[in-house]
Amino acid sequence: MLDRKCVACRQIKKQKEMLRIAKLNDEFVLDLKYKLGGRGAYICKDKNCLQLTVKKHLLNRAFKMNVSSLIYDKLGEYEQDC
Ligand SMILES: [Zn+2]
Repeated sequence: MLDRKCVACRQIKKQKEMLRIAKLNDEFVLDLKYKLGGRGAYICKDKNCLQLTVKKHLLNRAFKMNVSSLIYDKLGEYEQDC
């Protein structure tokens, strides 16, 4: 089960402490308001977890597929604002 478990550190946290990535059709988006449906994965809003996710492409494992590098770029940008 992917829900609410950080793909990087594997801890379960409160939803508002986490960033949700949603898969909608074949696109991956940051679900900042947790309102999008689809399959989702969570990452802590934490520099270390975001960096690890980008570096090791952990979303590929979470979604069991090759995730577009665009979403990793977005995570990188998000991490700058953390
Ligand atoms: Zn984490």
